[in-house]
Amino acid sequence: TYIIAEPCVDLLDKACIEECPVDCIYEGNRMLYIHPDECVDCGACEPVCPVEAIFYEDDVPEEWASFTDANYKFFEEL
Ligand code: SF4
Repeated sequence: TYIIAEPCVDLLDKACIEECPVDCIYEGNRMLYIHPDECVDCGACEPVCPVEAIFYEDDVPEEWASFTDANYKFFEEL
């Protein structure tokens, strides 16, 4: 799955939502989240993010590792 990290917080540009072929990017209170079971790893969302907030799961920078956990948690709590 792809993960959205800190630059999205309080920005929610949503360009990625337009790009996603399977509509698996959801809106939270302060940022967007990618559904880990629905994402097909196509990568289409990554280049359109104006603040480079989107990373393939294995490439999330160390400093933003907590966003990977937060992404999974967001969908567990729905
Ligand atoms: Fe959607 Fe593809 Fe981005 Fe996954 S990688 S969230 S399927 S656009």
